[in-house]
Amino acid sequence: MDFISTRGGGAVSAGAAILKGIAEDGGLYVPSFFPELSKEELLNMVSMDYAERAACILGMYLTDYTEAELLDYARKAYARFDGEPAPVIGSDDETYILELFHGPTLAFKDIALTLLPHLMTAARKKSGSSDKTLILVATSGDTGKAALEGFKDVEGTEIVVIYPSEGVSAMQKLQMQTSAGKNVHVIGIKGNFDDAQTAVKRIFTSEESKMKFAELGYSFSSANSINWGRLVPQIVYYVSAYLDLLGTGEIDEDEPVNFVVPTGNFGNILAGYYAKRMGLPINKLIVASNVNNVLTDFFNDGKYDVNRPFHKTMSPSMDILVSSNLERLLFELGDRDPAFVRKIMEELKIYGKYTVDSDTIREKLPEFAGYYSDEQDTAEAIDNFFENYDYLLDPHTAVAVSSYYDYVADTGDQTKSVVVSTASPYKFAHDVYECLTGNDEKDPFKAVKRLHQYTMTEIPKQISELSELPILHDSVVETKDIESAIFALFDK
Ligand SMILES: *Cc1c(COP(=O)(O)O)cnc(C)c1O
Repeated sequence: MDFISTRGGGAVSAGAAILKGIAEDGGLYVPSFFPELSKEELLNMVSMDYAERAACILGMYLTDYTEAELLDYARKAYARFDGEPAPVIGSDDETYILELFHGPTLAFKDIALTLLPHLMTAARKKSGSSDKTLILVATSGDTGKAALEGFKDVEGTEIVVIYPSEGVSAMQKLQMQTSAGKNVHVIGIKGNFDDAQTAVKRIFTSEESKMKFAELGYSFSSANSINWGRLVPQIVYYVSAYLDLLGTGEIDEDEPVNFVVPTGNFGNILAGYYAKRMGLPINKLIVASNVNNVLTDFFNDGKYDVNRPFHKTMSPSMDILVSSNLERLLFELGDRDPAFVRKIMEELKIYGKYTVDSDTIREKLPEFAGYYSDEQDTAEAIDNFFENYDYLLDPHTAVAVSSYYDYVADTGDQTKSVVVSTASPYKFAHDVYECLTGNDEKDPFKAVKRLHQYTMTEIPKQISELSELPILHDSVVETKDIESAIFALFDK
């Protein structure tokens, strides 16, 4: 299958799309068509394990890899998880939780980032290129650590992670600062995620930096969800959750379900939309935002406007105003006309906003519903859910749960719904503990202990280990100095 740029650039193979990360014209790679998942194929997959399901779905898009290769990568990637990579847990008769946080770094990003290094390494071999790969990552907290884990000590690869020094949780920061590996670099910035993402995109598309690194023998790639190799593994868990519900008789054949997705950069939920386009019976995709609710406004009245205050919340991985992957949805909204995308992205660049006719959104993308939860709603969701179901939500997932309740109150929709759970509550122990008890335990490790004592839930070993590990990366730079700080790493 070929991949084309949302801004009109030429077709490339899957391997090339994954190696490049972003198209030369600044657009994002999208599949040239959506392969169809027939009912027979779906039913066939019910008895498969997760890695086999992954190989099937990946194989429909990544046609320059063999099924055997893909199965091998999926087996290796998902062996790094603690048990099932994407189990579905029932909370009541209509609502389920899809737990995506059992990977090495306790966030859903692991699902794609344990697989991406295999896809990239193989793509480089297939291309015959002798270049090394320089992975640049902007992170709002979880991508950084997941990418560091995925790419550490991968041959022919260097990885640089840029994160907002004051915009991530204490645990997220420690996870990144203690990352080992001879090819890993971590830089904090005095800015927010959007600043980090903008800097990375600029470096990617600047001729000067491309030349500079080409001389050193590197070509760039991205481990952010702008990379197609991040999105395609995410389609798998939507399909897999559906198959699990079907397999256990929770739903009937062809019965549609809703997915509720805590959303920041729009990568996770976009994969759900792609699953629907392949034929998975999805009714609604509920876009759940925190108070940085740009997307809620977009889906409700067609206005996308980043000229607004930026809020730091207890769901930091969703503190994002420029959701990169929305560009891919705009491409579909505009009937795959690159001129439509170019015009909108130009407006966004110049004015920081654009408007799309809201009736068109409702007509063309009827599956989307935009909701948001403020900090109070989120705190209440954590507290109530624990009280009612004895189940501990992390703040991102709590945003989704609270948004889902608002959606049901508005619509009365009784379709069975899967809430996508994106992180372990222990990554955000301080806030979760405070939501439950009102106590503000400043010391992150004491907060972990208290949360454990209060809830009797298990502390993941990745968290308890952290207190023992030395800090290896503590540099923090001004936003304007990001590029020079990256160059300095390679100026030997
Ligand atoms: C990244 C992340 C999100 C947001 O996912 P997007 O693909 O950026 O929309 C939500 N929750 C957690 C815990 C995350 O790490």
